[in-house]
Amino acid sequence: MDSSYDVCVVGAGVMGSSTARHLAKIGKKTLLLEQFPLPHWRGSSHGQTRVFRCVDPEPHIVKMANDALKMWRDIQNQAGETILIENVGMLEVEEPPGTNLKTEEHYLRRENIDYQFLSSKDLKDQFPGLVYGPGYCAIYEKSAGILMADKCLKHLQKQFVESGGTLYDRSEVIKIQPDASGVTVLTNRSSYRCKKIIVTAGPWVNKVLKPLGIQLDVKPVQAPFLYWKVKQPGAYDFTKFPIFYDVSTSDGRYVYGLPSFEYPGLIKLGPAGKAQQEAAYSTPIDPDMRDSTMTITEGSIAAAKDYIKQHLPFVDGTKPAIVELCMYTLSFDRNFILDKHPEYNNVIIAAGFSGQGFKHGPVVGKILSDLALDRLSAYDLSPFRISKYLQQKSSL
Ligand SMILES: Cc1cc2nc3c(=O)[nH]c(=O)nc-3n(C[C@H](O)[C@H](O)[C@H](O)COP(=O)(O)OP(=O)(O)OC[C@H]3O[C@@H](n4cnc5c(N)ncnc54)[C@H](O)[C@@H]3O)c2cc1C
Repeated sequence: MDSSYDVCVVGAGVMGSSTARHLAKIGKKTLLLEQFPLPHWRGSSHGQTRVFRCVDPEPHIVKMANDALKMWRDIQNQAGETILIENVGMLEVEEPPGTNLKTEEHYLRRENIDYQFLSSKDLKDQFPGLVYGPGYCAIYEKSAGILMADKCLKHLQKQFVESGGTLYDRSEVIKIQPDASGVTVLTNRSSYRCKKIIVTAGPWVNKVLKPLGIQLDVKPVQAPFLYWKVKQPGAYDFTKFPIFYDVSTSDGRYVYGLPSFEYPGLIKLGPAGKAQQEAAYSTPIDPDMRDSTMTITEGSIAAAKDYIKQHLPFVDGTKPAIVELCMYTLSFDRNFILDKHPEYNNVIIAAGFSGQGFKHGPVVGKILSDLALDRLSAYDLSPFRISKYLQQKSSL
């Protein structure tokens, strides 16, 4: 037996790293365990970029994102390098009559988030790289930006260790044994004792939870990154062109896009939203076999091609220049799970971040820490209750 900790966190993705950092900062003796050597590219948090935005159809998510912005700024100040590029701006576009946007506008106003409501004429005048028919409208969230995902992770982990935390990579948690006075954690290398354990295992969550007798209604799914060549140099550069997200529903699919940033001369554009997620949910993958089971579906490429043809006049939509695959953990309703194990008060679980969790990392870290320390949360945790997602009982 190595040592004893206040809290052990399983999994050093953005959620585990943010949680561990927060706990160490408030003086808790914290152990962060990661199965792979760090840094690694096999979970959901790797890569160069993630979108940071506040606009969302769920009011509690808008509030969380707005709070997370301040926390990312603090992390960045301590990091001493840019991890969040603010004010890239984000356009959320919708076909007439713009029903989704009208609701979302209300939530932004409630949180005092700076935005503009754009008519189709405003859109045409301000963003000639996007072409939409009459009646389209958009919310323009000015402060939205780009989180540098790999750098965020590096600094969260660095700040955790600098605050006195212990981080062991190449440490796969094999068994979690809760009892009346704490938890014993067994890894491939050692065993540890802690008062509380927080499971932030991303796509592996059900593998980790199986010996604890529960399975969640979440699935690891494939997520493609598609990059397309820009025909008119500079037309979609991030210094003058925003992130965009089309939430029109008549054709049953949403599309998101990022300006040229990661690869010069290429923009990122791919399917998002309900239809894509329903398709992904019906074909889950095994996170341990991701490279042998992940394949890019022709449907995702066809939807993106079609969108480019209709709306992005300066992009070559013949075929993607680069295709990269990633995976995330989808819950059936795209909501997060942040709660205690139904039987073990000393086991806290976070899962189901459904392709939109990265930006919330620091707030999730605070919420999970409060749960572990039996402190009252500043957030209404009712949307995140585990009971809705309990699938079945497996034998202990
Ligand atoms: C293609 C793509 C695009 C996205 N775009 C956005 C975006 O624009 N904006 C946004 O906010 N979010 C976005 N997301 C979502 C966001 O990246 C995820 O919600 C977030 O990274 C999930 O983090 P996590 O910590 O829960 O999981 P992970 O990053 O997967 O971390 C889990 C960790 O647990 C470790 N682990 C698992 N089992 C064990 C074990 N037994 N022992 C020890 N360690 C273990 C894993 O190795 C892994 O490191 C996107 C995701 C993808 C894939």
